[in-house]
Amino acid sequence: MLNDRTYNDRRGGNDVVTSTDYLIVGAGASGLAFADSLVAEANDVEVIVIDRQGAPGGHWLNAYPFVRLHSPSAYYGVNSLRLGEDRVDQAGDNAGYYERATGDEVRGYFAESAERLGHTGRVRLLTCHDHLGRGSGAELVRDLSAGAVYEIAVRSKVVDARYLEASIPATHRVPFEVAADARVVAVNELPVAAKSACSYAILGAGKTAVDACLWLLDHDVEPDRIRWIRPRDAWFYDRRHAQPLEQVGAIMEGISLDAEAGAQAVNVGEAFEQLEAAGRLMRIDPSSPATMYRGTMLSPRELAALRQIRDVVRLGHVRRIEPDRIVLELGETTTSTDVLHVDCTARGLNNATPTPIFQPGRIVLQQVRHLSPCFNAALIGFVEAHRDEDADKNRLCPPNPYPSSPKDWPRLMSQTWISAQRWFSEPDLSAWTAASRLNLLGALPDHAGDPSVQTAVTRYLTHVTAAIERLSGWTDRVQALA
Ligand SMILES: Cc1cc2nc3c(=O)[nH]c(=O)nc-3n(C[C@H](O)[C@H](O)[C@H](O)COP(=O)(O)OP(=O)(O)OC[C@H]3O[C@@H](n4cnc5c(N)ncnc54)[C@H](O)[C@@H]3O)c2cc1C
Repeated sequence: MLNDRTYNDRRGGNDVVTSTDYLIVGAGASGLAFADSLVAEANDVEVIVIDRQGAPGGHWLNAYPFVRLHSPSAYYGVNSLRLGEDRVDQAGDNAGYYERATGDEVRGYFAESAERLGHTGRVRLLTCHDHLGRGSGAELVRDLSAGAVYEIAVRSKVVDARYLEASIPATHRVPFEVAADARVVAVNELPVAAKSACSYAILGAGKTAVDACLWLLDHDVEPDRIRWIRPRDAWFYDRRHAQPLEQVGAIMEGISLDAEAGAQAVNVGEAFEQLEAAGRLMRIDPSSPATMYRGTMLSPRELAALRQIRDVVRLGHVRRIEPDRIVLELGETTTSTDVLHVDCTARGLNNATPTPIFQPGRIVLQQVRHLSPCFNAALIGFVEAHRDEDADKNRLCPPNPYPSSPKDWPRLMSQTWISAQRWFSEPDLSAWTAASRLNLLGALPDHAGDPSVQTAVTRYLTHVTAAIERLSGWTDRVQALA
């Protein structure tokens, strides 16, 4: 419920909150990272963050029980608060790499982040509040507990931090039919439902399906009791190339391999072959063409574990599951009521059409740099605080959507490099980026003397200009064909 002291007017039958500078819609990672950065950089702004859910944390609130960050905790979350202890794991699939928070840890972290923002006295979080859109001169918000609709007058901007809202297993609409008696569960139910099954069919090709397979293997399910229904095969990054801090040279190496491939290959297919040969990209089954590229990553141990699963069905998307057969786009296969079918088909990352991030009276949070959602939201907060003209802000923060297939790679990479060059030429932005805990390359200057870092930086600088030129050309051709 909105705080009583904020009401001072009634208009059109709705209570009106007089003043907030920014209304942020969505208290997930993006909304909180933006708010955190904005209040740190802009003196005296007031912010209201609303979310229809009962707590901050966005999709993490409904994540499956065995979810973890796939990237290190070290550069995830909000800028002002560390997540985890920057430990290197000593055992398990992530051994040798920086720790990755569990779902519980991420939820606890965002609760603490929101509480700290509240303590600034400038940010108010309203959970269980749904943004209904623009009313007559103010924003309409429904209090989901009381049912009442309020108007919030916004002096500066509405920040859409839900434009890229994740589609997750617990809340998505199952995209196939399920006959009575067929055994189908959402991945969230796997740990409980697994006990009563003889074998398993994992439906989906992305990170959630990977996590479900690894969870079963970790719980001593033999690989031949797992069938994997993969509509398409995916490219994964080697997790080695996502390690920050003491291992930051590996991130630079990965980026330099991207630049080299961009400068040398004649098309995306050849670039991906080059990156696979260099160990930057991986496929579970190198003999099968991979058409999915979502930017997720695997450790070599995870890759080896997944390769034990031999029963892979490649007949497109599932249309219907019956007690004795699965009907797919390109054919059908047998099944039985002893098989637990696990739905991992939610899309996860959202590929909404890009739109300018800075618009009159509105900010639409989107991706800017390659696969860095928290960094991007915080960066946009910094730019909002320190630049005046929308044209200048949009020049520094052009939208760069999450990728879905290899054809997105040229745009993703070239836009990332172009934006990074623009930030680098602006001293305040460059200094903020260098100091931000969300910047995965933040520790690079500390390791500038390492021979491996010098090799990677030299390779990057040698190739990046040509890579931008070539990949921008490919991107234009892809757009022209679309
Ligand atoms: C399973 C999973 C694992 C991931 N792991 C990583 C990782 O390891 N590293 C990484 O960098 N990224 C990761 N990502 C990417 C991820 O999308 C971001 O990390 C981030 O959590 C997304 O946050 P968000 O705030 O953009 O969206 P969300 O978390 O989806 O939050 C949007 C919020 O908006 C609210 N909302 C929507 N409409 C309204 C409305 N009308 N009124 C009020 N509130 C509204 C929703 O309730 C929701 O809380 C992962 C994504 C998924 C799905």
